[in-house]
Amino acid sequence: MALLRKSFTQCISNRGLDRVLSQIRLNSSYEIVIAGGGSGGISVGARLSNALGSGKVAIIEPSDDHYYQPIWTLVGAGVKPMSSSRKAMKDVIPSKATWIKDSVAKLNPDEKSVTLSNGDTISYKYLVVAMGIQLHFDRIKGLPEAFETPGVCSNYSAATVGKTLKALKNFKEGNAIFTFPNTPIKCAGAPQKIMYLADEFFRKQGNRDKAHIYFNSAGAAIFAVKKYAEALNKIVASRDITANYGLNLVEVKPDKKQAIFAKMSNPEEKETFDYEMLHITPPMAAPAPIRDSPLSNEAGFVNVDSKTLQHTKYPEVFALGDCSSLPTSKTAAAVACQNKILATNLLSYRENQPRSATYDGYTSCPLITSSKTCIMAEFDYDLNPLETFPVNQAKERRTMYHVKATGLPIVYWNMMLKGRWGGPKFYRKLLHLGMSK
Ligand SMILES: Cc1cc2nc3c(=O)[nH]c(=O)nc-3n(C[C@H](O)[C@H](O)[C@H](O)COP(=O)(O)OP(=O)(O)OC[C@H]3O[C@@H](n4cnc5c(N)ncnc54)[C@H](O)[C@@H]3O)c2cc1C
Repeated sequence: MALLRKSFTQCISNRGLDRVLSQIRLNSSYEIVIAGGGSGGISVGARLSNALGSGKVAIIEPSDDHYYQPIWTLVGAGVKPMSSSRKAMKDVIPSKATWIKDSVAKLNPDEKSVTLSNGDTISYKYLVVAMGIQLHFDRIKGLPEAFETPGVCSNYSAATVGKTLKALKNFKEGNAIFTFPNTPIKCAGAPQKIMYLADEFFRKQGNRDKAHIYFNSAGAAIFAVKKYAEALNKIVASRDITANYGLNLVEVKPDKKQAIFAKMSNPEEKETFDYEMLHITPPMAAPAPIRDSPLSNEAGFVNVDSKTLQHTKYPEVFALGDCSSLPTSKTAAAVACQNKILATNLLSYRENQPRSATYDGYTSCPLITSSKTCIMAEFDYDLNPLETFPVNQAKERRTMYHVKATGLPIVYWNMMLKGRWGGPKFYRKLLHLGMSK
C-alpha cells in the first residue's frame, strides 16, 4: 500500500513538473516579467496580476523559500524562531502569476528579453527588476571559512543567522564586535539592533561586566537621520558601548580570533581587534546580471527615476527595492510604498497615460533597542522624519516594539505580499488629522 501511494505521488509530481516545464516553454513571452520573487517582486506581482488577470505576469525566482528578513534581528537574538521568517515560495507566488523557477543570467533590454541560467529566453513587453542586493562575505579575507568557527556570525543570511544565538549563549568574556561595511547595505539599522539585543542578553546572562561591546563601522555616524542619531548616541553611551567610526572589516583570522579593520581615511593603515564574538554585516552589491547590463548606473544598481521608478533609458523597464538606484535606505518598508507606486505607474504607462504616482523616498527602520523597546525611525529622501504616529518616535517605546515584532509581520504576510499594502501614508494622514505629508 505504501509503495502504491509512493509511486502515485511520484507520478503526480512528475506530471506536475512536466506541466510546469511545458508551460514555460510554450509561454516564453509574457506581457510583464518580474525578475526576483522577494518582498518587491511578490508584492508588485500580486498588484499587477490582480489588475491584469491570469497568464500575463511571470515571476522569475530560483528559491524554494521566501523569507521575511526583517525578523532575522529577533531570530538572531533568540526572541523569535527561524520558522517565523519563512514560507514556501509556492505559497506566496500570486495565484494569477506564473512562477518560472530559475534565475536570471542576463538582462537584454535592447531585445526586451531576459536569459535564464538554463539558457531559455523569456521575452516581455514590460520588465520589473526586483532582484535585491547580493551579500559578499567573500570580499572579507578569511570568510566564509571563519563561519565554521565559534563566535563568528551574521544575521544577514538564512545560513548564518542561527549562529548568532549560539555566539551569544557561548560568550563568556572578551570583545563582542559588531561591524558595518563600506558599501550600501540593506537595513542600515540592523548592524546595531543586534548589538543592543546582545547587550541585554549578556546582562540577563550575568556576564555583561565581562564584555567589551564595540560598534566598528566604516560609516561616519551611528545613523543618517539627526533626530534618531541623537537618541541612539545616548543609548550607546548609557550602555557602555564603544563606537568606532571609519573602520572597515577586511580580514578575519579565526585561528587567532582576530578581526582586522582598515581605516577609511587610509586603507593601508590597519587596526587589529581580538574577538570572542564577531557579528558581521557583509559588503553588498547589486546582483551581477544587473551590474553587467545596460540597465545599471555607475554604482551597479538599476537606474530608475527616483519619483516614478521607471528606467531612465528604457521606459518599459521599472525597478524597486534593494537593487534599484532609489536614493533611500534599502528596507522592506520602502518596498511597501514602492510596490504601489510602481504598479500604478506601469499600468498608466501601458495605457499611454502620464505616470502620476510619485515616491517621496519613504522608508522606515524599526531600531530595536531591547527585547521590549524600539525607536521607530521613519523618514524620506531628504532625511526628514515622516512619522506615522502622533508621538515622538525617537523615544524608546514598548508600543513600537510590538508594532515591529508582531504588527508588521502580520501586515507583510497578509497584506503586502497580496498587493494590499502600499505603506502607512493613509494612516499617517489620519492620525495627524490631515496635517502630515
Ligand atoms: C538582518 C536584516 C534585517 C532587516 N530589517 C529590516 C527591518 O527591520 N525593516 C525593513 O523594512 N527591512 C529590513 N530589512 C531589509 C529588507 O528585508 C529588504 O530591504 C527587502 O527584503 C528588500 O526587498 P527586495 O525585493 O528588494 O529584495 P529581497 O527581498 O532580498 O528579494 C530579492 C529576490 O531576488 C531573487 N534573486 C536574486 N538574484 C536573482 C536572479 N539572478 N534571478 C532571479 N531572482 C533573483 C532572490 O532569490 C530574492 O528572492 C532587513 C534585512 C536583513 C537581512
